[in-house]
Amino acid sequence: MTYDLILRGGRVIDPSQKLDAVTDVAFENGKVARVGPSLKGDAGTDVRDMAGAIVTPGLIDLHTHVYWGGTSLGIDAEDFCRQSGVTTAVDTGSAGPGNFAGFRKHVIEPSEVRILAYLHVSFAGIYAFSPRVMVGESEEIRLMAPVDAVEVANANRDIIVGIKVRIGARTSGRSGAAPLDIALQVAEEVGMPVMVHLDDPPPTYEEVIARLRPGDVLTHAFRPYPNTPATAQGTVKQVALDARRRGVLFDIGHGKGSFAFKTARVMLANGFLPDTISSDVHTLCINGPAFDQVTTMSKFLCLGMPLIDVIAASTANAAFALKRPELGSLKPGSVGDATILSVKDGRFDYVDVVGEHLVGEQRIFSDGVVIAGRWWHPTSAFKNT
Ligand SMILES: [Zn+2]
Repeated sequence: MTYDLILRGGRVIDPSQKLDAVTDVAFENGKVARVGPSLKGDAGTDVRDMAGAIVTPGLIDLHTHVYWGGTSLGIDAEDFCRQSGVTTAVDTGSAGPGNFAGFRKHVIEPSEVRILAYLHVSFAGIYAFSPRVMVGESEEIRLMAPVDAVEVANANRDIIVGIKVRIGARTSGRSGAAPLDIALQVAEEVGMPVMVHLDDPPPTYEEVIARLRPGDVLTHAFRPYPNTPATAQGTVKQVALDARRRGVLFDIGHGKGSFAFKTARVMLANGFLPDTISSDVHTLCINGPAFDQVTTMSKFLCLGMPLIDVIAASTANAAFALKRPELGSLKPGSVGDATILSVKDGRFDYVDVVGEHLVGEQRIFSDGVVIAGRWWHPTSAFKNT
């Protein structure tokens, strides 16, 4: 057996196989080939010494906006993934059926990092999102494009993983929850989950969550008041507990306006961990308060969520939401993506979307990325001599 790459002697944390051990990981032909001690390569094998580092499956950021150049909120996926240890960036609704072809051809296909997408049910996706021009794409009901969305989703099933819709006072306005009902019809027709963004009421939290089916994803799940899942009494709303019981998934989607420490403290104190941690990175939050995936993960670590759970929420759980079990795992045969992390002690300042600061004692850093079985970034790091 020859390997393209061996990551030697790191602390391998892979929640998909309940693994937390110092061992080696070998890659061959773009996939994970083997996990185990003392793996041997040959003269052509790239061997990287991982002593003291944490090796995880490639991080999945379940909520990003990476239609760079095609939409005003899109950031450059490769730049972002280099900084934040992400190997799969899931774009959520930047493109709709009217402009998905350009996203595919000009961004997704040339990209070295993996990009998957939720297709917006609104014709041109999130088309007017900037500091000076902000138009909710879901308010104009004439832009709802269920027939086109079904066609485009079916024609791009290798990349499109679900249907996105944004609702709330800021994004669907007078149309209320109607765009969600249309998105659900599309999702039903193509057999995919919906990811729904909810901002301020109307509609209410209760109205929205009652509509979601098993496998559907509520993003911005730990948002501040209003439409928050936490009650003023410090409990979790019964409708949220009921939704989790029937299989609705709760995604963080930090972003510019959608994550509050206050909400997170209540949820975590009640044992309600997020299913997935994601940054919702876009042009208006990449320089704060969201920054990136490892910063968002660090906030949860500092709020007391165990490291293993934080990693699961960025790997195996995200793969489950995507229905892509070959991602987010270091089981042999999985896609050959891995992320090298370190957790450093110190005093680190974090901020949420309402401006609350938290001084945390730990921070997760991204130190290296493997994509499709090759060391990707930074090129010379951890090289065995
Ligand atoms: Zn978003």
